[in-house]
Amino acid sequence: MLKVCKFGGTSMATAENILKVKEILQADRERRFVVVSAPGKRFSGDKKITDCLYQSYDEAKKTGRCGQSFEEVKERFLALEKELGVNVEMQRLLEEIEEKILRTLTPDYAASCGEFLCAKLLSAVMGYEFIDSRELVMFDYKGKLNAEYTNDVTKNRLATVDGGAIIPGFYGVMPNGNIKTFTRGGSDITGAIVARATDASVYENWTDVNGFLIADPRIVPNPKHIRSLSYKELRELSYMGAEVLHPESIFPVKVAGIPVLIKNTFAPQVEGTAILPDIDEQEGVITGIAGKRGITGILVEKGLMNAEVGFTRKILSVLERYNISFEHLPSGVDTMSIVISDHELEGRTFQLVEDIKKAVSPDKIEVQSGLSLIATVGHGMCYKPGTAAKIFTALSKCGVNIRMIDQGSSELNIIVAVSEEDYEKAINAIYKEFIDDFR
Ligand code: ADP
Ligand code: ASP
Ligand code: MG
Repeated sequence: MLKVCKFGGTSMATAENILKVKEILQADRERRFVVVSAPGKRFSGDKKITDCLYQSYDEAKKTGRCGQSFEEVKERFLALEKELGVNVEMQRLLEEIEEKILRTLTPDYAASCGEFLCAKLLSAVMGYEFIDSRELVMFDYKGKLNAEYTNDVTKNRLATVDGGAIIPGFYGVMPNGNIKTFTRGGSDITGAIVARATDASVYENWTDVNGFLIADPRIVPNPKHIRSLSYKELRELSYMGAEVLHPESIFPVKVAGIPVLIKNTFAPQVEGTAILPDIDEQEGVITGIAGKRGITGILVEKGLMNAEVGFTRKILSVLERYNISFEHLPSGVDTMSIVISDHELEGRTFQLVEDIKKAVSPDKIEVQSGLSLIATVGHGMCYKPGTAAKIFTALSKCGVNIRMIDQGSSELNIIVAVSEEDYEKAINAIYKEFIDDFR
């Protein structure tokens, strides 16, 4: 039996926290494979190492020098090496990295160094083998994870480990040897890859909260704790903004049916949240609420659009030309809304609207910006009479106007769009309305 552990940015932020990680690992010898994030914020207002590294890259590109943000990276890692009482030749490693950031100039390389150095430190603290993720995580030439190849390579490499190993999260390599990172928070994916490849009995994801909470604790004060949820519910919640786990981290563990356990590094005795292939659906209907800001809706109206063969395809072809993926596509009689994240639009909304007009000659097209999406998630909630009514009542009671409604075809969620200024009020209202229904 072996366990894979991933420790997030807060768990690796200070020497004191790293020593807590050491204790957790020593408390259970089955915890043999360990994936780490780069050191995160030590206090509110502090900077994450990964952010400093992206800034170093930007500065190097503009000025030819890594600048102040790299000085902060150096300071923090040198202090960690000293405080932990280990020797990983940090000074030399930092010099090499600085030189490479200046020479190779890719943001992915720069960003990967936080995880690399952090894994070096923990490997020295634990006396476990350091394994570079460039030996394990393989991307294709388009920058997409090559999941099966990665699994084969990782399985073979980790089979050679005697004792424990420390692995940096977040990055891997492209076929040409260049470093490629996942999107932000991607160390969770590395942990899941390692869990699958080693056929772990559990993937423990150690963070700074007591597990998955019903809602984001920065929005709802002291939300109730979720004891267990299914893979599907996790996918819905994390995709919709619950950042506890990266939305893509579920795929590797799903293939192997490995349970994920979210645990708190700062309260290891707390039970945490178990994420399981399936849960007892009778137990309760609502699991959690998640949401995201920065959403735009494009409302297209045209009489008899449903009778026009190829209408949706024409709109989707325009999006494809722009390489834009959409979040939702709710439609009514003669109307359709295309719901898109602002970071996909990248300031191209006006151009996009003009091209949709050319493609389908709508009667009316309207851009609704400044929206946010809120998903209420749970198995069976869509079958339970009154669930949608409860959400709408909660919102109307607090004066929030619903701009769009979408019931996912997975029948696992009901999504509403509200104005960004109503976002927090709406989440709190839904939470209060359902407080007794959460399992
Ligand atoms: P790590 O650095 O350990 O990967 P993250 O910051 O990525 O940690 O994720 C943990 C954070 O997610 C918590 O500190 C909390 O602020 C936030 N969060 C958002 N939604 C939820 C939720 N539903 N339950 C618990 N935490 C949440
Ligand atoms: N360090 C990376 C980030 O800040 C990856 C991670 O923490 O998972 O996004
Ligand atoms: Mg995270």
